[in-house]
Amino acid sequence: MNMKAKKICFKNIGQLVQVQDTDPPRLKVYRNCALVVSGGRVEKVFRDTGIRASDYARVVDLKGRAVIPGFIDPHTHMVYGGDRKAEMEMRAAGDDYLEILKNGGGILSTVNATRKASEEMLYRSARERMKRMIALGTTAFEIKSGYGLDLETEKKILRVGRRLAADLKVHVTLTYLGAHAVPEGVKKKDYFDFVLRYLPEFRELADGVDIFCERGAFTVADLKRLFLQAKLLGFQLRAHVEEFTLQGGCYEAARLGAISCDHLEHARPHDIRGMAVAGTVGVLLPGVTHFLGGSKLPLVHTLLDSGVPLALATDCNPGSCPTYNMQTILTLATAMYRLTPEQALVAATYGGARALDRHREMGGLRPGQRADFLLLKTSDYRDLFYYFGENFVDKTFLAGSAVSGRKEPVTD
Ligand SMILES: [Zn+2]
Repeated sequence: MNMKAKKICFKNIGQLVQVQDTDPPRLKVYRNCALVVSGGRVEKVFRDTGIRASDYARVVDLKGRAVIPGFIDPHTHMVYGGDRKAEMEMRAAGDDYLEILKNGGGILSTVNATRKASEEMLYRSARERMKRMIALGTTAFEIKSGYGLDLETEKKILRVGRRLAADLKVHVTLTYLGAHAVPEGVKKKDYFDFVLRYLPEFRELADGVDIFCERGAFTVADLKRLFLQAKLLGFQLRAHVEEFTLQGGCYEAARLGAISCDHLEHARPHDIRGMAVAGTVGVLLPGVTHFLGGSKLPLVHTLLDSGVPLALATDCNPGSCPTYNMQTILTLATAMYRLTPEQALVAATYGGARALDRHREMGGLRPGQRADFLLLKTSDYRDLFYYFGENFVDKTFLAGSAVSGRKEPVTD
């Protein structure tokens, strides 16, 4: 095949947004330009004049609309059985998240439903979910296990994640989250010993490990033991820290080389300094605060001022944030955290890629990177933030090819 046969030229782009890998990362906005994709990657962006159709296999007219990099969602629990709609009533009656967990609800009810579901059932429901997320603009994902809390189910979830990546041709980073909760009928010490003992078995299936460091779940000492072992095995380290209470896990996780610390609502300036020194990414999940009706927010501007790279994620999960939509997360981030549209978009693209250690190859729409991008229904990317609540993604492109969105509702 000659080179011309592989090249696609997208012309008449009203606004093309790139993320520059500077410190801090900034958006670069090109107007009235064209984008050339070759072999699934960005070849170049140039002024839209003098395009010769004969130089390309295909020329596509984007009619003056805006193109932005696809969103990268670095924190999801999207492979699960059942749902937790009943908890909306419990919360309305005054129960908080940790009370629901203590009474056998929360994570543990999802664990039961996930254990019962066959691999095929889990695969089908997660595939529908992921297709919906892609149609809404997400082009790379992180997926955690953590709803099995036994060897067989944890592996089943990770295998489903791996199949999704191959089937839907997206990047998926897989994370083993055995230390998510303590299963019913098992002593915490025995369960945590099990997590540590079987850690090597997950090296084949998962890129990283994660731990829910929280009152009623796992302690900072647990985090330290898990991370020291996981590091020796070559896992990436991630942690759910300082979400509902301050535990001190953030500082410890950063010190041990965590690639990301996630949630951070109760993190102190001291913890943030630790992250800045270690180069740990702060993954913020405003959808959880919104959905659970919380008011405690992370020190977002201290994070920014300290130079901590920020990412935004859905936390897509059946309990605390059942959303598929990164556009909603962007809206929440600008309103709740007082981020500019530029800061929020950088966090939802480059920041997510950085949290997955993929920022060299995706997330910026720069030459050489994967051509994962979104054609918006508008000519100005800021409409995403301004006319909140509307789906502005017309088409999602994965490695330069358009993916058709699903119209049917998702069923579990
Ligand atoms: Zn989570």
